Parts: sequence; structure tokens; C-alpha cells
Amino acid sequence: MKVFKFGGASVNSVERIQNVAHILKHWEKEKIVVIISAMGKTTNALEKVVDAFFAGQKEEALGLFEQVKQQHLTTAKYLLVTHYLACEAQLKDFFTEVEWLLHDKPVREYDYYYDQVVCAGELFSTAIVSAYLNEAGIKNKWLDVRDIFRTDDDFRDAEIDWEYTSSKVHSSIVPLFAETNILLTQGFIGATDENESTTLGREGSDYTAAVFANMLDAESQTIWKDVESVMNADPKQFPEAVAIHELNYNEVIEMAYYGAQVIHPKTIKPLQNKGIPLIVKCFLDASLPGTIIHNKPVHHLPPIIVLKEKQVLIEMSSRDFSFVGEHHVGHLYNLFEKLHIKPNLTQNGAISFLCVLDDRADKIEKLALEASVFLDVQVKKDLSLLTVRHYTKEVFEKLTEGKTVLLRQQTPETIQLLLQ
Ligand code: ASP
Ligand code: MG
Repeated sequence: MKVFKFGGASVNSVERIQNVAHILKHWEKEKIVVIISAMGKTTNALEKVVDAFFAGQKEEALGLFEQVKQQHLTTAKYLLVTHYLACEAQLKDFFTEVEWLLHDKPVREYDYYYDQVVCAGELFSTAIVSAYLNEAGIKNKWLDVRDIFRTDDDFRDAEIDWEYTSSKVHSSIVPLFAETNILLTQGFIGATDENESTTLGREGSDYTAAVFANMLDAESQTIWKDVESVMNADPKQFPEAVAIHELNYNEVIEMAYYGAQVIHPKTIKPLQNKGIPLIVKCFLDASLPGTIIHNKPVHHLPPIIVLKEKQVLIEMSSRDFSFVGEHHVGHLYNLFEKLHIKPNLTQNGAISFLCVLDDRADKIEKLALEASVFLDVQVKKDLSLLTVRHYTKEVFEKLTEGKTVLLRQQTPETIQLLLQ
């Protein structure tokens, strides 16, 4: 049994969806759980729908949602003949669910609405791809993962109820493999015990795939991407990025921790715990070797570069020049937990505490407000956080050329710099 995950870029056009069929045809004899992301930039588009809705701009929200609907219907029309009507009916049910919500007024928190709307992207894409594969003779069964993955109600960052989900995976998935070789479902989404939709954090489908792999003791998990393999940097930011064909879990965890967009940070653990190899393959050319990630040591890695933009530096200092000690810091960490803030970097000095965060205006405002009760708070925006693992002097100098370094943290392995 294998687990495949196809990301948004692999299904962002009619040709790409046909290409997915082409790849799966090759593996027809295997039992595979296939996880498919929302098409292309659908998740971002749906985020805009939620923003408009939450800002009270109902018509704007409905208009934006209409565009998402039309894109999906158009794709379905191009792809499907015999299966079109059934697929359209399924899509329309999902549309209605979202539109009902958009007609209401927001009374709950933003994150709740986010999950109810954004989860639709994966439902649309999987419905279309599943119908297309069946029409193309690649027999598969579509599943609503929200019937399988139960989570808590920490919207946008929901935690999987491992016990419930595992028993559901076994009771619902295993018997279905007797009927069909391909089970096709969504990643990134789940549901609470009250049937409210939840999401597991952006790029969460890699994680969903890993949880399936773990629970089903899969022989491997393959993530199909538009890159030839894992690279030492994002080629969009650094055109001279190079391919890495072999990595171990720990290195990938470190990369993800520092913000590399390769693989969702939570993805590795479920695989590592069961020693399941993770393979990254290129859907544009399946003959390329890709990258294999496993437990064995890997030597001679190139410098691995992660650049996070839109960073915010928050400096919190004592008002009377007294030390910012455990008491204050403990208090701040309680605030982080309460506000679901994950600092990308922290530094503690005598009379100040510095932290670097992603620019989430709502959270920063709340943090600044609560911290200003006992500390002076200063906020600096539009910074970038550069992390280099296995750094060399040359790489370091090249990357900081002409920039002001506001903060620097360094171990023999990793250097982090906050740049302006
Ligand atoms: N569609 C979601 C996102 O774009 C989840 C995923 O693709 O992994 O973040
Ligand atoms: Mg959580």
C-alpha cells in the first residue's frame, strides 16, 4: 500500500489533471491512497472570500466565490463527458454549503469561517479529479476525509484525534481496498465531533498523507510536485538553487522548522515513527529521480537557505530598566500560547525580549496590547528572516550584501539573520 499526494500545481489545468491520470495509470496494479490538494491558487482565492465576508462585504464575498465556482465548472466541463452531470451535482452541493454561510452575518471568530469556506477547495478538486479518473478508466473511489479525520476545534490549526481517526481509517479504508485500488480523498481538512469543518494549517495535505501512511503502515509516501526534487533554496528566490536527491528526516524537520516551504513541518514525524520513506517526485517528468527522505545519515549537504519575508520584529522592554527575567518571559510565552503565536526567532537580553513573527496583524495587535500592560512594546515591520544551515563564510557574505542585519543567532550548524 502506498500513499500519493498531488499538490495544487499538479491539478491546476485540464492538461495537468490529465497528466495525473497518466501517472496513476502506471501504478494501476498498486493499492494507493491518493490525496489531492485544491487546484492551483484556489485556497488563496477562498481566503479572499473569507476576508470579504468577515469584513461585512457580502456581495464582494459572493462575487469572489462565483469566480471560484465558474473556474471549477469550466474545468469539469472540459474534462468530463459521461460523468459531467454527476460531478456537477456534487459540486453544486458543495457550492450551496458555502453560499448559505456567506449569506449570514459573521458572529463567530474569523478562524471558524476560514475553515468552513476554505475546505471547499479540496472538495471541489477531488470531486473533479475523481470523476475524470473514473471516466478515463482509472477506477477509484472518492471519500470525504471529514468523515474520517476527526480533529479538535482549534480552527486553522486543528489537531487530529489520533485514536478516533485511526480506528476510522482502519474500518473505512481497509475494506474499500477490496473493491478498488485507488481511494481518492482530500488533505488539509477534517471535522470536529460536531461536524464543523477544520483545517490543519496551510500546506496541510502533506501531513494528511503522512497520517494516512502511518496509520495504514504504507510502504512509502510520494509527494508529486512541480520541482525536479527538493532544492537547497526556493528557486523563485534563489535561481542558483541546486537539487538534493537524498535527505534524512531530521534535516527536513529542521528545514521545515525554519520555514522552508518544501514539506509541511508536521509531515515528517508520522513517517519517521514508522520508518516510512518519503519520496518527492516531479509530476512534470516522472522519470526524474526526485528526492528520497529516510532515516539514514546523509553527508555533504550544500548550504540550505530559507528566506522568510514579511517578518515583524517586536521588542518588549522593561519600563524602569529592570531585568526582563523568567517572570516576564514566562508571561510572554503564556501569551504566545493563548494567541496561537509561533515566534520564528526569539532573543532575550537584559532589559528586553525580542521576537520575530509572521505578519499577522490581528495577532500582533493583541500581543502588543496585552504585553504593554507590563512592558514597553515596539513593532518593526517589513523585515526578512534568513536562515542558512551548513553555512559557509562565502554564502553568508553573499546573502547579506548591502543589507542591515538587525539580529543574528548562530550555532555551528545554523545561522539566522533578521534583515532590513
Ligand atoms: N490547499 C491547501 C493549501 O494550499 C493545503 C495543501 O495544498 O496542502 O495550503
Ligand atoms: Mg492546534
